[in-house]
Amino acid sequence: MGDFEVIPLAKPVLGALEERLVAEVLRSGHLSLGPRVLEFERRFAEFVGSPFASAVSSGTAGLHLALRAVGVGDGDEVITSPFSFVASANVALYERARPVFADVDPVTLNLDPVAAEAAVTARTRAILPVHIFGYPANMGAFERIAARHGLGVVEDACEALGAVHADGTPVGGRGNPAVFGFYANKQLTTGEGGMVTLGDPALKARIDSERNQGRSPDMGWLDHDRLGFNYRLSDIACAVGLGQMARLDGMLQVRARLAASYREALAGIDGLELPCEDREGERRGWFVFVVQLPRGVDRDETVRALAARGVQSKPYLPAIHLMSFYRERFGHREGEFPVCEDVAARSLALPFFPGLDQGQVERVAEALRAALGR
Ligand SMILES: *Cc1c(COP(=O)(O)O)cnc(C)c1O
Repeated sequence: MGDFEVIPLAKPVLGALEERLVAEVLRSGHLSLGPRVLEFERRFAEFVGSPFASAVSSGTAGLHLALRAVGVGDGDEVITSPFSFVASANVALYERARPVFADVDPVTLNLDPVAAEAAVTARTRAILPVHIFGYPANMGAFERIAARHGLGVVEDACEALGAVHADGTPVGGRGNPAVFGFYANKQLTTGEGGMVTLGDPALKARIDSERNQGRSPDMGWLDHDRLGFNYRLSDIACAVGLGQMARLDGMLQVRARLAASYREALAGIDGLELPCEDREGERRGWFVFVVQLPRGVDRDETVRALAARGVQSKPYLPAIHLMSFYRERFGHREGEFPVCEDVAARSLALPFFPGLDQGQVERVAEALRAALGR
């Protein structure tokens, strides 16, 4: 022992490039609604192979505007995953719509298309699959369900930058509004921020207007023809994003290599389940490394044992329908989505970020072996 340097869960990669680009914006005096926004949108759209992209102030803001863009409103239902960050469900409530959950696939942990279709009612307006932990959701199936029932599709791609579908299309490049998030633990960060990629220019125009208080680009100063929000992303943040774009390929490759190292270091621990391997040409965009602890193991105890060895870890993610707000508001209870609940009860995120080195991966693996007594 003796090495008490704590290994954090996540840590962004930022350097001289981001500093220089931010300094340029500061010196220019053009801090918002400036050229960096357009440049970041263009570069990001190109990366995911999307015709358009709209920068927004957060992933949550992007999901909200995307749901509005596909027509979700008062009294509608939106089918989504209970195994996600709470934002993907909350955004339906912002529009007085109801998030309707369906269970997840036990292997990919993504919304199960069969369960999702079974949840369709006359009030269903849209389906919002989440590419959880960067693994591409089965969009072909969801698009067919949407076509059969006349639904809108919004993709929560906030964890999936760099992921690729089986047909080679990057996640976010299928034309459906797809939303990315740039919080500090994501594959690409602007501190806070988000991006909606999409194929329909009319929806792009609506999102651009609604992120800016409902102003249309060609209207006079402070004339507003619809309700909007302030969901803008500043040029300062977009400058950080442009710096991150320049190192994105490298950061994604390092993440994939680290995941492979973890797989090796954690092999053979009895009952421990690792993130599913890529299958049938699908490629995960590595965001987090989440293991499922063996059944019967006390997770809180494991977190404490890891912390005592200088390793941060976090239960990730809790089931949304079992959060107090969702229980109280909608009367959800245990047993509704058994796959999600089982996974949520055993999931533990381990330190995972490009700056992690091989020695630290081994330290984490050793600490986990010791904590589990195997
Ligand atoms: C990060 C994330 C979001 C968006 O988060 P913001 O903090 O609003 O940028 C949405 N959904 C999922 C699944 C996420 O992981």
